Order: sequence, then C-alpha cells, then structure tokens
Amino acid sequence: MRLGGVEAGGTKMVFGIGDETGTVLEMKSVATTSPEETIPPILDYFLSQQVEAIGVGSFGPIQVDPDRPNYGAILNTPKTPWKGFEWPRAFAQVGCPVVIETDVNAAVLGEAMYGAAAGLSDCVYVTIGTGIGGGVLAGGNLVHGLLHPEIGHMLVRRNPQDSFAGGCPYHRDCLEGLASGPAVELRWGSKGSALEADHPAWDMEADYLAQMVVNLTLVLSTKRVILGGGVMHQAQLYDKVRDRVREYLAGYIELPSSANTNSSVNASLNGNALPKQHSPEKPSDAFIVPPGLGDLSGLVGALALAARSRIKPPH
Ligand code: ADP
Ligand code: ZN
Repeated sequence: MRLGGVEAGGTKMVFGIGDETGTVLEMKSVATTSPEETIPPILDYFLSQQVEAIGVGSFGPIQVDPDRPNYGAILNTPKTPWKGFEWPRAFAQVGCPVVIETDVNAAVLGEAMYGAAAGLSDCVYVTIGTGIGGGVLAGGNLVHGLLHPEIGHMLVRRNPQDSFAGGCPYHRDCLEGLASGPAVELRWGSKGSALEADHPAWDMEADYLAQMVVNLTLVLSTKRVILGGGVMHQAQLYDKVRDRVREYLAGYIELPSSANTNSSVNASLNGNALPKQHSPEKPSDAFIVPPGLGDLSGLVGALALAARSRIKPPH
C-alpha cells in the first residue's frame, strides 16, 4: 500500500510516503509559514505519488470529529494564518481519503504500532517542548470527545519551592505554564539546554511531570507513558520522574512488571533504524519510556492513520 503522511508542526512540516508496515520510503520537509506558501509543495508532491490515502498529524486545536462539516479544520490557533485552514480541502485534488489527527495522537499511534509501545492498546505519548501536548490511545482507539485531550493544560499542585508565576496565557500555572521548555527558561533565566544535569531545575521539572504521569495513570489506567520532546533531552529526567511517580503512587497502583511488557518494548520498525531499546529493570522503567521511533513518531503515526483508513473507516 502506498501511503502519504504529514507531520504538521508549528515550525516545519515533515511529509513523505511509506507503507502499512510503518516503513518510510521518502521524507521531505518545508517551513511552516502560511498555508499559501507551505501547502503547494506538499500538494504537488502527493499529486505526483499516487498514494492510496493521506494521514495528517497536525498542530491544533483541530476538529477531529469526522461527522462535523469542518472535519480537519484548524480551530482557534495563535498561528493566525492557519486559523480555519481545512486539511481535507487542501488535499481534495489528490482524490484519496485524508485522515486528520492531532500531532500527538498520530505520534501515540505510531509508537503503539511500531515503537516504544508496540502491541499495546493503551498508552500515552507526551511531548515536553515549546508547549506540552499529549495523545492518548485507549482500548485501541485514539481518544476524542468534546475536542481531544489537552494534557498540557492539566492542573498540578505547585512545588513548594517554586515561586515562578507560570507562563500559560490562559491558566498561568497549569502544567504547561510551569513545565514547558519556555517555563524552565523563564524560571531559571537560562535555556534548559544550558542547565547542568544536577541543577535543581530538573528535580522541580520531574515533580511536575510525575504529577502528570500519576494523573494519567489514575484517570486512564494506561499501560505505558512515552515522554518525548526537547526538554526530555535531559535524559536524567526519566529516572527522576520514575522515582517521583513511585512516591506519588505510594504503592496504590502496581506498575506493570518488566516481564509482561518486555516483548513489546523490543519492537522494530521495518527498514528504519531505531534507537536501541533498553531492558527495563524496574517496573517504572518499562512504564515511563522515551519514544522508540525517535523523531519519526509523528510521520510514522501519520502513515499508520492513512493505513487504518484503508482497513476501516476513521474511528
Ligand atoms: P517544539 O516543541 O517546538 O516542537 P522541541 O520538542 O524541540 O520543539 O522543544 C523545544 C523546547 O525544548 C525549547 O523550549 C528548548 O529550550 C527545550 N530544549 C531543547 N533541548 C533541550 C535540552 N537539551 N535540555 C532542556 N531543554 C531543551
Ligand atoms: Zn494552560
């Protein structure tokens, strides 16, 4: 099956073709400026490729309900040129099904099919970068509802040592307001990448991310939480978050043991080089993991969306 995929980010759009095994055959990218500038090269590319379906994982918020007339429209975004932009209309000329999801829902699907949660029907993917966003797979379905999950804006308990007011323009000290890359930079007066691995910033960051993981675990009963994005380049955060999660859960919920999660951790993506997966030693090591597909989760997820649309109607 020849499929098209687009990972539409706020800075750049990565697009390409691949197949239903998650193999990326070709990949290109274009800067995200305005629809007038950014879309034509992507459309021309798909017109020349004879794809059977196109999957799009887009920055949002977006209308993901296929029963609504504005299915696939970008809603109330601060990126004003994109407000009201409709993905299905943009690719209508290609003449194939176009499936739209949030960028993070595409990523969680990619990871659940071919990456760090391969084979799991319940997992969450969260990116901690310029903003915080998460996609949820529950019972094998990507979660939508009133809109789609907005994990970044969950409310968290303020760390007692934290005097930073928070940077979310809507809620000030929601999770994103306290723990995004820009929040770290504003609080400590230095880019996160310039703060040493043993800087107190990371204990505070781990506290907030652990609260998020605990809330996700309690609400969704999810089986794995994948943490990605620029801030997670601070690799020491994984163990710090795992330790805090154990403290917060206080034994109330037993995390899955490595024995029953190992097989899916060692998944491979046909044809694509994957970062080596570690063998988990503690249950929390298998529960909170880095993305298995590296930078490819979004694009591979978009291909998986396209593949699913050929097998069953979207959602
Ligand atoms: P985006 O969210 O815009 O798609 P990223 O996931 O790369 O992009 O996240 C960018 C954010 O991550 C920035 O706020 C940046 O300061 C932060 N960041 C990038 N690298 C690191 C690092 N090594 N340590 C801490 N923070 C980092
Ligand atoms: Zn918020």
